[in-house]
Amino acid sequence: ARIKEVEFVKSSGRAKDCPKDDRPEFAILGRSNVGKSSLLNSLVRKKEVALTSKKPGKTQLINHFLVNKSWYIVDLPGYGFARASQAARMDWSSFTKGYFSNRDTLVAVLLLIDASVPPQKIDFDCSNWLGRNNIPVTFVFTKCDKMKMGKGKRPDENIKEFQELIRKNYRQHPPWIMTSSVTGLGRDELLLHMSQLRNY
Ligand code: GDP
Repeated sequence: ARIKEVEFVKSSGRAKDCPKDDRPEFAILGRSNVGKSSLLNSLVRKKEVALTSKKPGKTQLINHFLVNKSWYIVDLPGYGFARASQAARMDWSSFTKGYFSNRDTLVAVLLLIDASVPPQKIDFDCSNWLGRNNIPVTFVFTKCDKMKMGKGKRPDENIKEFQELIRKNYRQHPPWIMTSSVTGLGRDELLLHMSQLRNY
C-alpha cells in the first residue's frame, strides 16, 4: 500500500476538464484548516511534494495527483472559510457538486473532520449531502493527538457525537479512521483502506 511516487497532473477549473481515463480516484474534502495538507504530506512522506495548493478561498481548482502511476488523489477546494460570502459558498457547492456528478472513476470521498473540536454544522451538512446522494464516504478524523485538558471534549467524544449526528442519513455507517499527522496515527490504516477499496 506504499506511496512510492506522486506526480502532479493538472488543475481543472471545471469538472469536465478533469483527466479522462479510467484510473480510480479518491477525492479529499474538508473544511479549511482541518489539516488536509498536513495529512496528505504525511501520507506521501516527502516534504517536497506539495499535494495541496494553499490559496484559501481564491482558487477554486480541482487538483489531480497521480500516485504510483496507477490511481489519483484529488484535492478539492476546501469549504467553510469563516469570511466567505454567501455567494462564494454557493459557488463552492455548485462547483464541487458538479465534480461529484461527473466522475465515474471516483472510488470514495475522504471527508476530513477535525476531531479536536465539537461537531461543526458545515461538516455534517456536507456529510449528509454525500450520504443522501449515495456517494461513498470514508470519514477521516484529523488531529486525534489533541487531548483536551480541562475544558472541552476529547477527540473520541467529539467523534462519537459526530457519528450520532450523521447516522440517520446513511443506510450503512461509512468506514472511519482516526488520524494524526503529528504522531502518524492512522497513516498505514488509511493507505491500506484505500488499497482495499481500489481492489474491490
Ligand atoms: P489545511 O488548511 O486543511 O490544509 O490544514 P493544515 O494542514 O495547514 O493544518 C492547519 C493547522 O492545523 C496547522 O496549524 C497544523 O499545524 C495543524 N494540524 C494539522 N494536522 C494536525 C494534527 O494531526 N495534529 C495537530 N495537533 N495539529 C495539526
